[in-house]
Amino acid sequence: MEKKKIAAVVLAAGQGKRMGTETAKQYLLLDGKPVLYYALHAFEKSEVDIVVLVTGKDEIKYCKEEIVDKFGFKKVQAVVPGGKERYHSVACGLRALKAQRKEIEVVHIHDGARPFVTPAMISKLIAETREKEACVIGTPVKDTIKIADEEGYCAQTPPRNKVWAVQTPQTFAFDLVSGAYEKLLACEDELLAQGVQITDDAMVVENMTQKKVSLVEGEYTNIKLTTPEDLIIAESFMKKLKK
Ligand code: C5P
Repeated sequence: MEKKKIAAVVLAAGQGKRMGTETAKQYLLLDGKPVLYYALHAFEKSEVDIVVLVTGKDEIKYCKEEIVDKFGFKKVQAVVPGGKERYHSVACGLRALKAQRKEIEVVHIHDGARPFVTPAMISKLIAETREKEACVIGTPVKDTIKIADEEGYCAQTPPRNKVWAVQTPQTFAFDLVSGAYEKLLACEDELLAQGVQITDDAMVVENMTQKKVSLVEGEYTNIKLTTPEDLIIAESFMKKLKK
């Protein structure tokens, strides 16, 4: 029997408005290469077998020609259009993986705007997911976190040793996360009416299944490029990595 595959969905269909640049943040140049290149490179060098890249429909040609073909990313099996919200794009990526008609064991869901993911992080997540089925990489927070009330006052201070900032990859048994996303889409209107904001994959699995999601300690360097300061930080990490 053919070995079950390890997959990754890499998300690059956002507009990245908070960066304030005309070009979406995942296509800005970092040390002469598009930000998205770095995540694809890490997956190419990892144990992952299949990658599906999710982009805006107008960027599919650019991504195929100027990123996937140009840098020879052989593991990218499909480049597909995403949707309005991040979770729509994830669902598009998971469906595209299903359409590959391969038996998939584990899938990573990763933000294309996080260039500092490494094959070592990916390896650690695969091992943890084989044991626990649902994992998210992150780091304990360094700042004290406050929960605000409606008027902008501090309402609660969660104990800092229990608060984590989660990143991606978020890694799951494929059938578990795929089922959770189908369930989410089926009750999306209801959740939106309740004012629920769906901001990561772990919360989809937490809310749509009985499965608990395990926190896996990663690296503070695995930042997401969101606002202009992040580009300065990313450039300085880049210089350090080249030393
Ligand atoms: O906007 P945010 O920083 O949360 O986006 C995280 C990742 O999700 C980015 O890589 C972005 O391109 C992707 N995304 C997407 N489809 C959307 C929104 C965001 O693929 N509709």
